[in-house]
Amino acid sequence: MDSILAYMAQFDYENLYFCQEKETGLRAIIALHDTTLGPATGGCRMWTYATEMDAIEDALRLARGMTYKYAAAGINLGGGKCVVIGDPATEKSEALFRALGRFIDRLGGAYMTGEDVGTTLRDMEYIRMETPYVVTLPRELGGAGPIAPATARGTLQGMRAACAAVFGSPELAGRSVALQGAGTVGAELLKLLRAEGATVFVADIDERRVQELAARHDATVVPPDAIHALDVDIFSPCALGGVIDDATIPELRCKVIAGCANNQLGRIEHGDRLQERGILYAPDYIINAGGTIFDTDRLQPGGFHAERAWQHVDRIFETMAQLIRIGEQEGISTARAADLLAERRLAGARRVQNIRRDVRISL
Ligand code: NAD
Repeated sequence: MDSILAYMAQFDYENLYFCQEKETGLRAIIALHDTTLGPATGGCRMWTYATEMDAIEDALRLARGMTYKYAAAGINLGGGKCVVIGDPATEKSEALFRALGRFIDRLGGAYMTGEDVGTTLRDMEYIRMETPYVVTLPRELGGAGPIAPATARGTLQGMRAACAAVFGSPELAGRSVALQGAGTVGAELLKLLRAEGATVFVADIDERRVQELAARHDATVVPPDAIHALDVDIFSPCALGGVIDDATIPELRCKVIAGCANNQLGRIEHGDRLQERGILYAPDYIINAGGTIFDTDRLQPGGFHAERAWQHVDRIFETMAQLIRIGEQEGISTARAADLLAERRLAGARRVQNIRRDVRISL
């Protein structure tokens, strides 16, 4: 990135804020991408960025991703993200997050934060001491609590919709699934898949954890470097990003890819390669939105309503089915169809904004 403002203009960003507080050591960046649908919202990431430019780029890229995620999920929020430069293992303090909370508060609700890589619900509690603009909170503070179960259920719904298109039935009973990563979400998904009657092969670099989970849920452990190439119906990436690339695509033997990991495709063109190979890809940000959907339900009038939140999570099935149709109609990959679905919703919202509400005279 040579020019920050040129980069912002290229993808139409609204604001970029820099926050510095010497006493606490806070160095943070807040990016607001697009507020067409509502206040810019997105988690707070804490990471040891090599350079300031890396941190800026990450904040901008992630904020834009949130705009698309909310738009496609039917949530009335805009895209935003906060990154804190520092080591989450050694540089966290109550004061640091409270300082960040003060800066977020200054934005007056234009940005709302939440948990992300390197931050926890405890950190959110510190931010909440200084500002109400925190979405992800424990139940006792009015939040939705842990969101991994909702992420797993949404991923399962996306998987079911993909199976309906490929195998003619959404049923997962009898389907074989290669699950890459048995972490917080992966473990939940494993449980759900086994309850549906799927056969599950699972890999994780944490050998002890994967053995224990596999034994508990009657799954088969396979080595991490072999999981993507198994001859199965569904490959489910639930660990890291960038697992679908030039090296792995020729080795895939699945018919469907549906997992919760963020940024699974190395590049958008890899979505085209999957389409050419006849593999249906369930776009990551569409089917992993369950946690976000669940989490942001508390912003509805009356606060968090569990039943409504779960119903909204289950709608990922229809969203996935809809983007498969868009892909077929437009002759594009599902990865590109996901972006188109989000862009259409944003365009629709902008058109509605042209209709003024205040055209009546009060008598
Ligand atoms: P996690 O850290 O709890 O789990 C990740 C697991 O992947 C760990 O058990 C880790 O040992 C394993 N792993 C790492 N490298 C691996 C490899 N090469 N092969 C196999 N396993 C490997 O994270 P999580 O919260 O379960 O999230 C998983 C993914 O889903 C991440 O990409 C995350 O960004 C994304 N995601 C999570 C949520 C959520 O609700 N937590 C929501 C949306 C997206």
